[in-house]
Amino acid sequence: RVRVRFAPSPTGGLHIGGVRTALFNYLFAKKHKGDFVLRIEDTDQNRYVEGAEKYIVDALNWCNIPFDEGPGKEGNFGPYRQSERKHIYKKYADQLVASGHAYYAFDTTEELDAHRKDHEEKGKTFIYNWHNREKLNNSLALSKEQVDKNLSSGMDFVIRFKSPQDQKLSLQDIIRGSIEIDTNVLDDKVLFKSDGMPTYHLANIVDDHLMEITHVIRGEEWLPSLALHQQLYDAFGWEAPKFAHLPLIMKPVGKGKLSKRDGEKLGFPVFPLSWNESNGYREEGYFPEAVINFLALLGWNPGTEQEIFSLEELIEAFTLERVHKSGARFDPEKTKWYNHQYLQQKSDEELAVLFEEILKGSHTNVLEEKNLNDIIKIITLIKERATFVKEFWELGDYFFEAPTSYEQKAVKKQWKEETPQILNQLISVLVGIDDFSSENVENIVKEWIAKEELSFGKVMAPLRLVLVGDMKGAHVFDILGIIGKEETIKRIKNAIT
Ligand code: GLU
Repeated sequence: RVRVRFAPSPTGGLHIGGVRTALFNYLFAKKHKGDFVLRIEDTDQNRYVEGAEKYIVDALNWCNIPFDEGPGKEGNFGPYRQSERKHIYKKYADQLVASGHAYYAFDTTEELDAHRKDHEEKGKTFIYNWHNREKLNNSLALSKEQVDKNLSSGMDFVIRFKSPQDQKLSLQDIIRGSIEIDTNVLDDKVLFKSDGMPTYHLANIVDDHLMEITHVIRGEEWLPSLALHQQLYDAFGWEAPKFAHLPLIMKPVGKGKLSKRDGEKLGFPVFPLSWNESNGYREEGYFPEAVINFLALLGWNPGTEQEIFSLEELIEAFTLERVHKSGARFDPEKTKWYNHQYLQQKSDEELAVLFEEILKGSHTNVLEEKNLNDIIKIITLIKERATFVKEFWELGDYFFEAPTSYEQKAVKKQWKEETPQILNQLISVLVGIDDFSSENVENIVKEWIAKEELSFGKVMAPLRLVLVGDMKGAHVFDILGIIGKEETIKRIKNAIT
């Protein structure tokens, strides 16, 4: 059975790269009718951020990619927070020490800093490995008595992995194929610390093994850890899961990886929900389906021209083999394009409910005169131009409120000497219309224009101007039909007196 996990560290907001990792895990799990596990990797207490775990869970739920097992959704492999699994890891570290794959080290931070500095002065980099470990303060250099003495006196220690000398490792990655590594460049990574906590590496491997994870799908930034991870599996004698390292998400312009700062600078959100309650995708008015859709195509391609995918279609189409090796450039404009597409797909009823919510918050007064049905009609007329529901107000405010000023350039161009008189005549025509539906008014007004031998433009342009305030907006007769007879006449009168 396929089992994958998303294993974030709760060190802050889950940004868009994290959601993409979660999504690819989710899609892969669902495609193979497997399990998607959320594991919280909170062994580094110094970096722990209050509220981050809840945020991660909320974000996954908002994106509609819920996990099958995880904190609060216990399965057979819990607990799912590493801090609650603390008691598990020591025995595995001990096992590696006993088998000769790991060793105790007692170097203090000061000592290590001194070694680093010393090397730097000689133009070298200090790597804690076969190269110099025999000279350092660890159990490979000390007598057994000394090691026991250190340990029983409560001296701080770490357990390090003993990285082999002069070996070539051949690592396999589903996306990248095989990767050759020379073990001489690897350092002896810390696996366990005397505060009783494992490091990321040990906890991650032990938990992936115990939770029976079959595929590790994670960001490219973890690729450098793969050699150690593979060696840990080998040292334990465990079968390693298959690995797939997803390409980095790159800045929209220039070089480098997308960061939160790019978002701030270029004005697009990087968090699915906002961490600061103002600039997440949700708060900006993105639909979760749009976010999921654009994320799916960041580093993956379906092999066809299709761009719009429902979640079900993504599950169906997704394969790790179609994930790219090279970085995926993040494109905020494309992201908006997706939202525009999804907005057009929504029913006017659904959009009206969302818009009404916004109006309740910012323009309560207009709701006294307009009900949901009116709002639906308005949305039908304006939605084509909208990317976000929140733009409906700007695109259609004139349906709700009379203009308070008129755009000067348009006035100069459209307002002629005879305009007040023409509009006055128009009022008398409008007064006589009982059925004020758009089509009926259109027919009658057009007949009148023809009969009076007026120019169509000389009537319609100033009419739009007095109804809307400038030359933009929906079809004029649709506007009339929605705002009604009384309001139409009122707006014309306002303008000519
Ligand atoms: N805790 C790691 C992170 O924050 C997990 C990396 C992995 O998936 O192995 O991304």
